[in-house]
Amino acid sequence: MVMDGLGDRAVKELNWQTPLQAANRPNLNWFAEHGASGIVDIIGPGIRPGSDTAHLAILGYDPYLVYTGRGPFEAAGIGIVGNKGDVAFRCNFATVDEHLVVTDRRAGRIKEPDTAELAASLSGITIDGVQITVKEATEHRAVLLLRGEGLSAKVSDVDPHGDTKIHEAVPMDRDAKRTAKVVNAFVKRSYEVLNEHPVNQRRSKEGKPVANILLPRGAGIFPDIQPFEERYGMTAACVAGVSLIKGICRVCGLEVVEAKGATGGLDTDMLAKTRVALEQMESHDLVLMNVKASDIVSHDGNAQGKVKVVERLDEMAGLLREKLPENAVVAFVADHCTPIEVKDHSGDPVPLLIYCQGIVKDGNLTYDEGAAAKGGLGRIRGKDIMPILIDKAGRSEKFGS
Ligand code: ZN
Ligand code: ZN
Repeated sequence: MVMDGLGDRAVKELNWQTPLQAANRPNLNWFAEHGASGIVDIIGPGIRPGSDTAHLAILGYDPYLVYTGRGPFEAAGIGIVGNKGDVAFRCNFATVDEHLVVTDRRAGRIKEPDTAELAASLSGITIDGVQITVKEATEHRAVLLLRGEGLSAKVSDVDPHGDTKIHEAVPMDRDAKRTAKVVNAFVKRSYEVLNEHPVNQRRSKEGKPVANILLPRGAGIFPDIQPFEERYGMTAACVAGVSLIKGICRVCGLEVVEAKGATGGLDTDMLAKTRVALEQMESHDLVLMNVKASDIVSHDGNAQGKVKVVERLDEMAGLLREKLPENAVVAFVADHCTPIEVKDHSGDPVPLLIYCQGIVKDGNLTYDEGAAAKGGLGRIRGKDIMPILIDKAGRSEKFGS
């Protein structure tokens, strides 16, 4: 159970307690009393993880070896799982004038179904032997996938961000020349196709900004990741509301299971998610559950809100406590700290708690950052979590004879 951004620092408003310490959490504390805790440097001491690199580490992968940028995971999040070597871009539908000067970087915050229709009109194009796929994402965003021989992600952004005129994609090394050419040709083509598109003719009549160009940024090449099942000989599922987390899990070969009411927001139905996770345990060896709410309130700097989210997380723990199969191994962990005072991820270690039958209790009575630092699991790295869980489940291979 990954409680996103849960870890924190002592907060003045909470009488110098962390939100986790300030919250009423009888169930998490029960697991602490009957399990073992520790602290985890998800990537390494003092390294601030993104949720993407953090989840890779929690799944046992070395993010330094397999992480190639956010693009491919975002693409996978909306269902486009590329092959190794495919290049994915995050894109905006935008408005440009006839000189390709950007007049609205979000095309009036256009959204579905308009974006879906526009994306479909660009999908299936081939440029210089490279196959193009475009799919709409949330609001004015989309994903562009290039598939072909010898592509590279070392190309600069077309999206001018703060600038006015769109940029040319520039190759950042020799191998990226062809990719940059394809991207530039595609952007030009996107203008030709979208500028005349019936959706935009209609928007124009309605006085709305047209979405007459697609602006790629953040190129990333699909990594060579050994599928989870092949790596560990175990099947795995993921229950998450956030697209990026789903994407990471998909690229790692986990089955992404939708839970009704799982939104990735504060309004998410945590108990529904927990029930789906419990169901999935019948058909999968491992289930990874991510709850984003704790990270959202942290980015807002909302201490009281975070305390409330922890209390909802505790209800999830209560449901697990009640329904957990006898032989299950459960881990409660955060993917990184998002301290209220920082309003962003920090490099602090996160509290980990593992519970299973027969585990040696370490004497901790509570689950929080301070208690975990004194716990029996000591201080480990994120990528150590998976081998420990596999061993606790009695499924590790012996090293030597
Ligand atoms: Zn996160
Ligand atoms: Zn965050």
